[in-house]
Amino acid sequence: MLAVSFGRGSNLPAIGSYNQAVVLDAIRRARGGLSRVEIAQRTGLTAQTVGNVSRKLLQEGLIRESGRVINGPGKPRQMLQLRPAGRFAVGVHVDPAVITLVLANLEGSVVAHSRYRTPSSSRPNEVVDLIARRTRELVRGADVVPERLLGLGVAVPGPIDVEAGVVLDPPLLPLWRDVPLRQVLTEATGLPVLVDKDAIAAVVGELWLGAGADDRRKERTGVAFVYYGAGLAAGLVVNGETVRGKGSVAGNIGHITVDDRGPTCSCGRVGCLGMLVTPQGLVLEAIARGVLPSPAAPVDEKADMKSVERPFMRLARLAERGDVAAREVLRQAGVRLARAVVVLANLLDMDDFVFGGPFWRPISAQLLDSVREAVLTSTALVPKQAMHLVDTRIGEDVAAVGGACLVLDAAVTPRPAAMLISAKGSSGALAL
Ligand SMILES: [Zn+2]
Repeated sequence: MLAVSFGRGSNLPAIGSYNQAVVLDAIRRARGGLSRVEIAQRTGLTAQTVGNVSRKLLQEGLIRESGRVINGPGKPRQMLQLRPAGRFAVGVHVDPAVITLVLANLEGSVVAHSRYRTPSSSRPNEVVDLIARRTRELVRGADVVPERLLGLGVAVPGPIDVEAGVVLDPPLLPLWRDVPLRQVLTEATGLPVLVDKDAIAAVVGELWLGAGADDRRKERTGVAFVYYGAGLAAGLVVNGETVRGKGSVAGNIGHITVDDRGPTCSCGRVGCLGMLVTPQGLVLEAIARGVLPSPAAPVDEKADMKSVERPFMRLARLAERGDVAAREVLRQAGVRLARAVVVLANLLDMDDFVFGGPFWRPISAQLLDSVREAVLTSTALVPKQAMHLVDTRIGEDVAAVGGACLVLDAAVTPRPAAMLISAKGSSGALAL
């Protein structure tokens, strides 16, 4: 029988067998559904296997029959579609300023959403209590029965230990050191929990929701998500796999040198991307150029995001209204960001860049044009194929939606190696 396997405690959720995941994945990726014959053609499974697996997926309420389609000679074919309300996942984004929760259905569409200020001084236990309480409210409010919940995916600032689900030493959350977030959230919610970096969650969400949306995106196997939050990071997917590196710190682009001047970075050099192009960096630049008034208290790189948010939004509004000096701050930031994009493009032969994150939207209109122009005219750009530099389709909740997609992805994407690990009963070893 196909069942949602919660395993022991914090084990990751996985739906059914490998063949069931293969069929579900094929149906999910096809817009408008597939007939059983088409599923057999696409997956290489026999007609009999597809018949058996489809019946189980129908029984479990994961797919539905969506009417008959006449396609050439012979009997009209019964189409099978994903049943969006068949399962759900909760996604949470823990940001130094805001906690965002979403409830997403099997398609990854958000059916409920809530947002809260991160509790003052952001003690981990307060945040865990808040997430557990608000998750219950969200699920109850949407009338979702607990049996249909696959789990909870949490996006947090890095660095983290992905396998253990431990948040190690995030910036701007001074009381968060070695927090076993996965374990305590599993205990508090009773749900399987995944913890991952915000930039990784964002790229998984982008791929999950982008898949099948159009032909180019359907084939996406290499994507860099440039995550613009309190800091800058890249969520990387290469050859269809998320890139984490040995210690889960891959995608750190903050110390890429993008200028020969600027304030001295924590690394001792000047011109680091993470000093110049972050919200704090833009605010400091705008103050230095007289675009924003000098604050009563100095804004430095350790300033909490609440004190940066207001001048940052003011800069964004000025640029939007056409203030020449404000636009120049963002244009220059775009040129600097483009240098890091070119480094990534050259390093990974990457042509698909998506930009998003909590602070991206207010400046995206100005910044993205500047990045695009500087990348496309860069004499240092090696890849010859067309470059795609776009805004995220998901919007500012991309990390929370990505958190839910981590769970959906773990549950329904077929991965032979992962299934083998799961069969051995290894706890929490299902790599995404
Ligand atoms: Zn640096």
